[in-house]
Amino acid sequence: MKIGVLASQGAFAEHISILRQLDTEAVPVRLPGELRGVDGLIIPGGESTTISRLLTSYSLMNEIVSMARGGVPLFGTCAGMILMAKNISGNSTESLGLMNIRVKRNAFGRQIDSFETELEIPALGEEPYPAVFIRAPIIERCDSGVDILARLADDNVVAAREGNLLVTAFHPELTDDLRFHRYFLDIVSGKR
Ligand code: GLN
Repeated sequence: MKIGVLASQGAFAEHISILRQLDTEAVPVRLPGELRGVDGLIIPGGESTTISRLLTSYSLMNEIVSMARGGVPLFGTCAGMILMAKNISGNSTESLGLMNIRVKRNAFGRQIDSFETELEIPALGEEPYPAVFIRAPIIERCDSGVDILARLADDNVVAAREGNLLVTAFHPELTDDLRFHRYFLDIVSGKR
């Protein structure tokens, strides 16, 4: 199994390191040719407007959309989640527009730039999951076909799945809990 990690900008090195800890081949993707032969793709956190611009200039936007429509699993974290959403509240960032969700960028305001909290995520088992949020978005609306995987105590949705598409508002690559990446690999191998 080979997983691509979009390496235009942001926290891609951490994702690659986690995949390698899970004995999975991980390749950085900057150019369309590097998508060849990947079984799944991670779109990391960073700055969604910057990543969007780079996706367009390196002709990756259409390639990734057709891969995902063809069934290749995608995992978007934070800015990656924003880029996978069909709708971004009050924003004209060009996105991949794949997933039936509406997201709001920087949903926690300037006061709460980043925080860590334990989440109940039944899909990962009973043990609470340590989630790191950095200038994080939230999912404001889930439309048909979307399963909610995690909510904050105030009910805001922060992780979801729609078939081969998986997103988190937080950064699973910044903890040493490997369960979210394992969950994604299970989607890629068809176990989930
Ligand atoms: N605030 C960033 C954005 O709107 C996302 C932050 C992140 O990925 N950690 O794109």
